[in-house]
Amino acid sequence: MAIHPAPPNTGIIFVKQAGEQTLACPATIQYLRQTDHCTTLQADDFQVQTVEHILSALAGLEIDNAYVEVQGNEIPAADGSAAPFVEILTECGLIAQDETRTYIKIVQPIHVEDEHRSIEVRPAALPRMSYFIDFPHPLIQQQHYEHSCTPREFSRNIAGARTFAFRHEVEYLWSRGLGLGGSLHNTVVFSESALVNEEPLRFSDECVRHKILDLIGDLSLIGFPIIGHFQAKRAGHLLHTQLVQAILDNPDKWIMLNAENTQKSDILHRATATSSSRPLPELEPAFLSV
Ligand SMILES: [Zn+2]
Repeated sequence: MAIHPAPPNTGIIFVKQAGEQTLACPATIQYLRQTDHCTTLQADDFQVQTVEHILSALAGLEIDNAYVEVQGNEIPAADGSAAPFVEILTECGLIAQDETRTYIKIVQPIHVEDEHRSIEVRPAALPRMSYFIDFPHPLIQQQHYEHSCTPREFSRNIAGARTFAFRHEVEYLWSRGLGLGGSLHNTVVFSESALVNEEPLRFSDECVRHKILDLIGDLSLIGFPIIGHFQAKRAGHLLHTQLVQAILDNPDKWIMLNAENTQKSDILHRATATSSSRPLPELEPAFLSV
């Protein structure tokens, strides 16, 4: 994977060189294909799997515009967190672009639920996330985390939290040929009562922090930063992305801030733009490769 600079108002676009052609898939909700165990995007025949952690790193650092060039069909798992991406992005340096940043500001609550799971976003002065999980495992149990969405908080407290799974799930997935990139190097695996990995947990509440990491990546599929207070209970990728859709479906419940150059319809358009509607410029040299 390599990350290239992109001009203002590009958003995040996954690209792949295929002979003479450059295939492109914008990181927006329209291209979402699967939310089962990982987030997959697909435009025509170009599919990119496991995009949630690189999207989280980009959104967590408030990077609005980039081309993410991939060679295979899957984003490198790295260590199962967003920390390696944050490290190289921070090392390489970021610039402020000469364009006002447009925000979606929630003015009325939007709620999505499914039996015991729920997620909602309420009006708030600043972006904030509260997450609650509840697993009947001695090392997890009930965990609650409050995240104030700044790049500094993200880098320090969220980016390092790794993917977690239970041994019976991992064995099942691996036996079905799924999650092939998964290993103890990039997944925290819990047995019935203990941790399988030799490396200890990075945070005692690493699981709920990883849920916030995933939420940040999934919410970025709306294409613009959102000002609101997100409150999730036992949620996951599916519910996260259903909330993104619910926000788009309820344009009367949000307004736009700093929108001199953007209309509400642009937000809806960016989230649903087709890949062919945006001509790709020549890529500038990659600053980063993983
Ligand atoms: Zn994840």
